[in-house]
Amino acid sequence: MHPTTTWPVWRWSLLLILCPFLLGGCDDGAPTTPATPASLEIISGDQQSTVAGGLFSDAVTAELLDENGRPVTDHLVTVSVEAGDGWVHGPNPRTDDAGRVRVAWYAGIEPERPQRLTLSAGGLSATVEGESQPPIAGESYTGHRSFVEYIPGTLPLVITAPHGGTLRPGDIPEREWGTMVRDYATDDVAYRLADALEERMGARPHVILLHLHRTRLDANRDIDEAAQGNPDAERAWYEFHHWTDAAMARVKADHGRGFYMDLHGHGKHDDFELGYLLTRNDLEVSDQELDEQWAASSLRTLAEEAHVPFSQLIRGEGSLGALYEEEGYTSVPSPVRAHPTGPFFSGGYNTSRHGCREGGTICGYQLELSREGVRDNPVSRQAFAEAHARVMERFLEEHYGG
Ligand SMILES: [Zn+2]
Repeated sequence: MHPTTTWPVWRWSLLLILCPFLLGGCDDGAPTTPATPASLEIISGDQQSTVAGGLFSDAVTAELLDENGRPVTDHLVTVSVEAGDGWVHGPNPRTDDAGRVRVAWYAGIEPERPQRLTLSAGGLSATVEGESQPPIAGESYTGHRSFVEYIPGTLPLVITAPHGGTLRPGDIPEREWGTMVRDYATDDVAYRLADALEERMGARPHVILLHLHRTRLDANRDIDEAAQGNPDAERAWYEFHHWTDAAMARVKADHGRGFYMDLHGHGKHDDFELGYLLTRNDLEVSDQELDEQWAASSLRTLAEEAHVPFSQLIRGEGSLGALYEEEGYTSVPSPVRAHPTGPFFSGGYNTSRHGCREGGTICGYQLELSREGVRDNPVSRQAFAEAHARVMERFLEEHYGG
């Protein structure tokens, strides 16, 4: 579509005749005012399909031209998600020297909804449409540059492993502040936990892994500390948390409620640390006093529904600490170790964000594994994975109806 020109045709004709004689030429700059957008067209990215919450593999590319078919450069293009609750990465773009913009587009977390994106500039607009498919259990889905991986399941259980990554791309600078130590082999532990649960229960949990090394991104922090301004790291952070949200949406759709584990490793001592957002101080109290603290914990809504006092849920018989102890893994808090006696990880950003302290039906915890005999070699990792499957089977049966 071409808007009517404000220049009469005879003027253009005159200009063409005069062009060779004018100083400086006029081959491509006759109008002195900025080029006016006359067409906005989609070049690529229309009619794609991806998994719910996933990246459409081709960037949405659009071209902005003036009435003479020349690129309109450095022009703001407004991008809006019209349908499907998807998201785009980054701010509204400006056209490049070819008049083009490229937009990374992600599908919304609810599958099988129409996905639609509209780009607008200079009173013009163009729309792309896409499809989102339900995730297939056991498939591996990856995001931009394969920094984040999502392996869906059908159990009411979501496992995230934010600190097991090993990738150190040269174009992403090291983070300048915060903790940099990788949680050794927690990526491999997460894979084994999922396989062992499938072996034992016939169904897999949802697993989300960050493969970037912690020196590049810490997915268990808010975005400022996590990515420290690097756009690729920020993008991986969004992918990690959107896919975790997508997994939780699947759990709610399939089961109504569920459980969440943020998997970590520490090197302080030989006990597992179970973080329910209760600090060492919170736990250094009597059971009666602990019973009052349910609303501050990452088991908040589970505690409201449980048939046992809150302190029993945290450190009584049947608590996760008790179940790990029965498998031979010393744990705190547990019936044997009511509270930590030294520095203690009580749960971080992910446990706060994705657990149920603020409400919701998916409660969770941060699990800090010790290293020796647990993560240090493939044999110990496999033994732990099988033990964990037994623990989780009992816990899910008790609290989530099996
Ligand atoms: Zn960690």
